[in-house]
Amino acid sequence: MSKVTFTVFQQSIEDLSYIELKRLNHQIDVQLSKNEVGQVLAKHENDISKCPHCGNCTLSRWGSTNQGKQRYRCKNCSKTFSTLTGTNLFRMKKPDKWLKYIECLCLSSSLRYAANLLNINLKTAFRWRHRLLKSPCAHKPTELVGIIEADETFVPESFKGSKKMPRESRKRGGGNPPKVPILLALDRNGAVSHYVLNQDTKEELSLALKPLLTPDSVLCTDGNLSYKSIVQELDFSIDHKRLIGLDKQKVIDKIYHIQTLNNFMMRWKTWMKRFFGVGTGYMEHYIAWFIFMENKESYKNKVWLNEALE
Ligand SMILES: [Zn+2]
Repeated sequence: MSKVTFTVFQQSIEDLSYIELKRLNHQIDVQLSKNEVGQVLAKHENDISKCPHCGNCTLSRWGSTNQGKQRYRCKNCSKTFSTLTGTNLFRMKKPDKWLKYIECLCLSSSLRYAANLLNINLKTAFRWRHRLLKSPCAHKPTELVGIIEADETFVPESFKGSKKMPRESRKRGGGNPPKVPILLALDRNGAVSHYVLNQDTKEELSLALKPLLTPDSVLCTDGNLSYKSIVQELDFSIDHKRLIGLDKQKVIDKIYHIQTLNNFMMRWKTWMKRFFGVGTGYMEHYIAWFIFMENKESYKNKVWLNEALE
């Protein structure tokens, strides 16, 4: 509703009788209780306590944005900001369509399907997809415990969705298409972490894997010597089970294996086929998306919306 129409509507309320006002009040309560996005945003607004620019906590209310969102002004840096500044929903329009769009994400719908269903254009559907995938991607586990399985997988390099081709592509070796290495690591509590690497080197694996490892954990890997070296360089000791030269099951003491991870990779790669190739720059989003969907607790669109506001 435009500002002018809303002002006219507000003025017309003054002519209503007591009974009519009571009816209208009831209708408004019903609509408010149905508006889930509005409730999530209102709660977020209540929780705003510091400036997203400088972190100062002395704020004053400063009118509202064109979309009707509360604007604030920081008394320290004098910058203004709105309810959604600094969140992944900043400048995303049409909030009435967000939850329906997240439902499409939960169903792994194509961009074209979501765009048609919600009557938004393809570019918007693409932009919303990656805005909403930023949070699950940013909130990946930072440490793993107990039995940890780690392994690399490789996907073809792609510039799909990128505006410019980079000057230098990854080196092509022996005529094979370039492949992008991805480190995946999980523990048996269901935490999965992932890193798209530039190169499959010990240094890159180390940078990604070391922070995830915790004392008293048991790392299960294949025979890649890089893992052996990474474990030796740790400041604390962990047990390392290398699954090499074993029987066909590749299991030590019935519990140490990397089959949970291999099964995860297989499910993820099967799911990825629907996208007919994904730009390397967006790959982490697609892994995070799949992990988020596999986690039944987070398979709710309001949870997803709340994540986007953090
Ligand atoms: Zn400030």
